[in-house]
Amino acid sequence: MAAPSTLTPSSTTPDVHALHAALARVVPDHCLLVEAEDLRPYECDGLAAYRSMPLMVALPETIEQVSHILRTCHEFGVPVVARGAGTGLSGGALPLSDGLLLSLTKFDRILEVDPANRTARVQPGVRNLAISQTVEPHGLYYAPDPSSQIVCSIGGNVAENAGGVHCLKYGLTVHNILSLKLVTITGEVMTLGSAALDGPGFDLLALMNGSEGMLGVIVEVTVKLLPKPEFAQVVMAAFDDVEKAGSAVANVIAEGIIPGGLEMMDKGCIQAAEDFVHAGYPLEAAAILLCELDGNQAEVREQIAQVQSILERSGCSDIRISQSEQERLLFWAGRKAAFPAVGRLSPDYYCIDGTIPRKELARVLRGIEGFSEEFGLPVVNVFHAGDGNLHPLILFDANREGELHKAEELGGRILELCVAVGGTITGEHGVGVEKIKQMCVQFSSAELEQFHAVKHAFDPDTLLNPGKAVPTLARCAEFGAMHVHHNQLPFPELERF
Ligand SMILES: Cc1cc2nc3c(=O)[nH]c(=O)nc-3n(C[C@H](O)[C@H](O)[C@H](O)COP(=O)(O)OP(=O)(O)OC[C@H]3O[C@@H](n4cnc5c(N)ncnc54)[C@H](O)[C@@H]3O)c2cc1C
Repeated sequence: MAAPSTLTPSSTTPDVHALHAALARVVPDHCLLVEAEDLRPYECDGLAAYRSMPLMVALPETIEQVSHILRTCHEFGVPVVARGAGTGLSGGALPLSDGLLLSLTKFDRILEVDPANRTARVQPGVRNLAISQTVEPHGLYYAPDPSSQIVCSIGGNVAENAGGVHCLKYGLTVHNILSLKLVTITGEVMTLGSAALDGPGFDLLALMNGSEGMLGVIVEVTVKLLPKPEFAQVVMAAFDDVEKAGSAVANVIAEGIIPGGLEMMDKGCIQAAEDFVHAGYPLEAAAILLCELDGNQAEVREQIAQVQSILERSGCSDIRISQSEQERLLFWAGRKAAFPAVGRLSPDYYCIDGTIPRKELARVLRGIEGFSEEFGLPVVNVFHAGDGNLHPLILFDANREGELHKAEELGGRILELCVAVGGTITGEHGVGVEKIKQMCVQFSSAELEQFHAVKHAFDPDTLLNPGKAVPTLARCAEFGAMHVHHNQLPFPELERF
């Protein structure tokens, strides 16, 4: 067995044979991939415009093996990128050419379901939807439901603090996790959180939500389960004007109603989704709202009547209410398939994820339209309207010289506009490599320094997912990006919208 050599990340190419030999002391050979054809499937996540082959891939089967891998990489100075299902849209699981990719796909077991306490203890590679499917016989479900829930893993959900249609009412991942097990870069196993509602000390559990694999590797998650609502109905309202639809969203929330989901799609998206799943969407509408109410039958019927009246007062041109469970699911099918449906409109699309105060919806949509004209690239919009979480999809063709770059520039302008109106550069997809420049716009130097201090406390040698999510101050200077204070807007476009 070769003795481990100590290497500085990125400055020296790690000795892959020595690393392999050291890992193989504990990790079985079939769990370590080094051949180019085995590494290729891991070269990107859902942000396929960015690709890089890892030095090697490890697919551990036990927590002991994860500890050994991290401890060994720490000794060797080799960076580690954790990966769940690889559906992330911001390049968080993009491998590093001098690093090890740590895939959690073999951690795919539901360890315990506790219906009395309404919790489930699961491994991080378990698919989001598999949790709800498993606990369904108990009349329970796991609420956060990203559109990628058939595939994405709960570990990836925690690392990105994933959201979904039902998060408006039931909270993001951070609100639905009770505890987790984390392995540090030096191989220690820590338990964060507990079965109790609150605990002493800093809330390290909350810190892990959205930590993008930069503080530790999640190897077990205890999630909260909710009783399945007795009844749910969806109102689908059509608008001949996007602005009216935006105001309708604000009006529903202002009346004190918190729908189970409140989603909006614009014309381009409606057409794409309708062609794809035939959900019965009105093709002539400029925008539709899907508003779900859930609870007991009497409560839902009362709220449906209230919502109907608000939407009519807000100027909707047509309104339909699902009359069966089948129709409710059909209304949602179009929304849930919006991304693949848009994929049929153009060779490539680039999905942006930003959040704005709800009242700014109309102004920001006008801004996006302006950018779309300026850059000559169509943009269609689908969003978690109730949360103010936008997903503009920029259509482009990567085979055309310079179009990817143009799409990225346009996306960056949209995110900066979100910050300028008091919003954020991410609603649920994380920062990864995609939005690292806009982090310099969102945060001041002092704030970024605090992020680095937290990272340093967990990972002093910067080996966990380095180069992602938090830019160095030097990079911000290099980008020339400037922190934007809300309401002190160095953003000339805002005057126009
Ligand atoms: C069609 C489509 C629709 C989507 N819709 C939504 C949506 O509605 N809402 C939403 O929030 N997201 C959505 N996403 C984005 C994506 O599915 C989520 O970000 C998801 O949480 C990623 O999970 P994953 O298992 O694929 O993680 P990966 O992509 O593998 O990894 C994501 C990040 O988490 C880290 N990570 C993964 N596992 C671990 C672990 N065990 N320990 C530590 N770090 C880890 C990685 O290093 C990386 O930084 C969508 C994606 C697609 C392709």
